[in-house]
Amino acid sequence: MIYVDPLITATPPSYISEDERPDWERSCHLFSSNEQDLHIFARRLGLKREQFQNKKPNPLQWHYVLNPNLRKKAISRGAMAVTSEQLAIHLSGGEITLNPGCEACRTPVVLFFGGAWTCYNCLIHKAIYQDRDDVERDRIYKFIDEQKRMLAA
Ligand SMILES: [Zn+2]
Repeated sequence: MIYVDPLITATPPSYISEDERPDWERSCHLFSSNEQDLHIFARRLGLKREQFQNKKPNPLQWHYVLNPNLRKKAISRGAMAVTSEQLAIHLSGGEITLNPGCEACRTPVVLFFGGAWTCYNCLIHKAIYQDRDDVERDRIYKFIDEQKRMLAA
């Protein structure tokens, strides 16, 4: 499966010329858990192999950068649009599933924590109001911090 994450405002990749920059100021990542599938899909979108971003040591961070038009094209060709939370699941080595929903509130945006699908709100709620267990509370906050760090990387 091939994925795209939400568009964000970012500095365009270095191989984009000055003239093309405005088209690339909003961009996203094209990624997959299968590197070969990713290259084939990218080539069919018209991307060059030199545009593959593979400088990061974690193979799960390998990706191509897409501008808004290429993102639309990718989705029309079967790439799945995922949330930033789902990207975090991918980066932590998890399988992206089709929004099973938070066990507590059925929100489609989910994290996998302690053997269950949950959302940020319910996880924070659990940490603040339900868990009298300090170790469990620390574990929840640590998990949330890790997710945020991965999204910022
Ligand atoms: Zn929830």
